[in-house]
Order: sequence, then structure tokens, then C-alpha cells
Amino acid sequence: MKLARLGNMGHEVPVLVTDDGYFDLRGVVDDIDAQALTPQGLAKIRASVGTLPVLPDAAELRIGAPVTRPSAILCIGMNYAAHAAESGSAPPERPILFLKTPNTIGGPNDGVNIPKASTKTDWEVELGVVIGTRALYLESPADSAAHIAGYLTANDLSEREFQLEISGGQWSKGKSSPGFSPLGPWLVTSDEVDSSSLRVRSWVNGEPRQDSSTADLIFDVDYIIWNLSQFLALEPGDVILTGTPAGVALSGRFPYLKAGDVVDIEIEGLGHQRQVFGQA
Ligand code: ZN
Repeated sequence: MKLARLGNMGHEVPVLVTDDGYFDLRGVVDDIDAQALTPQGLAKIRASVGTLPVLPDAAELRIGAPVTRPSAILCIGMNYAAHAAESGSAPPERPILFLKTPNTIGGPNDGVNIPKASTKTDWEVELGVVIGTRALYLESPADSAAHIAGYLTANDLSEREFQLEISGGQWSKGKSSPGFSPLGPWLVTSDEVDSSSLRVRSWVNGEPRQDSSTADLIFDVDYIIWNLSQFLALEPGDVILTGTPAGVALSGRFPYLKAGDVVDIEIEGLGHQRQVFGQA
């Protein structure tokens, strides 16, 4: 299933997206939130297919992030070897975790402001994983799949000076400006996604930047969930960003973003985003 949230910020309507259109889920779930993303919530949605009312004028509505109010956005750093190299780092021996604040979440096509005092705002297309069942102390990576609700396209927007030069070694200051986590346009449930080799791409002002595959992840989705679960509890609705491939401005090969720039990102099967940048 493809799930989305349509409407103005803070007033989004949960919908099921099919080839026949957009169907209103308000009679079935409160929102696409932690409760809706549990196996029970998704089963309820699945059982409602065929009985749902069409949402009128859905194509005219703003597309919101397909999930709301996660307890955490957990991000993996340096998870593609070529990106680690362009960042001047060796590939990590174990997953590197940093956090973004959940209030960074925006819709896939919402405008984003470059932060005040920023000169190094950068893009990062990433496969996002949404948790469906609490995960803590999983015994092996093979146990991870049962804890995944679905997948989505994410942009892990980053300010490199804040992240790397004036952060004291913790990255989150450069990752948590308002609007820095565009998600969507949809969440695709895990039964319909093979996350092992999805094409992952980005463009700036129409020029190609990143073009890679999740097949090149150093730590795959199952390994990440198993590993994180040794240290913390992953809750239903939580979003994991799995890392970005080579082709970001930090490499020195491309200029950082400025007001007026347009960033496009896309993950095969998970949809396309476009952000126009302004200035805070
Ligand atoms: Zn990232």
C-alpha cells in the first residue's frame, strides 16, 4: 500500500494512494502515526480497501510528510563507501548514529529556508525506513524485517559548518534546522518494497548530483535496525535515514546551496521530491 498525508501543514488528511486515486482514511485511522503504522493499524487500513470514500480535489492539495510525530529521526552517517571517501573519512566499522529533531520534518515539495549564517547548506538523498513494531535487543539482522512498516524518500539536509566545524564533534546542530527533513511523497509498505537495490538520485537546478543504489550501502537496512536495537528502543513511527551516497557539495565538486536553488531527489519506487530554497 501507498500511504500519504494531504493538506495544509498541521491539517493533513491521511489517504491511501492507488492507481484509481486518493482515498480518505479518516474513518479508519486518526493519522499516519505510530498507531496506524503498527501491524494492527496497517491491517485495519488493508481491510478497508474498496470501502473508502474518494478524497475530493486531492490532486490540488499540498503533499505533507507521509508520517507524523515520530518519537525520533535516527540517521546513519557515512554508509556509502564513496561518500565516506569524498568526506575525507574511512568507511566506518560499525554504524554511526546521529539524531535530527522531529520538528525538521516537512512535505516533499515544501520550500526550505537556508539557515541564518549558513554558507554550507547541502543535500543528501536517502532511503528512509519507518518502524512498525518496537525493536529492542533483536537477536540477529534476520529479525529486523518484521519491525519495518515501510519505506520513503528522504532528504537529510545538512549545514556542513554547523555539523563539522563548530559542533564539537556532534553532528545534530548541522542537521536540525527547520524544514531540514523533507519526507515523502508516500510511505510504501514493506511488503511492496525490496530495499536491497533501489536507484537513489539527486539533482540541483536540473544538473545531476547523486546517482547510486542502495545495493552500495555498507550496512543494509536489516543490519542497521539490529545494530541500533542493541543500544536503544526503536518505536512504531520512528524514521531511520540510512545514509547518503557520493555527490554532495561537501565533496568540493559542487557549490553549496543558495536561495533560489531547486533540489530534486528521487528513489526508485518511492517517489520524487522538489524543494525550492529561500533564505531564513
Ligand atoms: Zn544523511
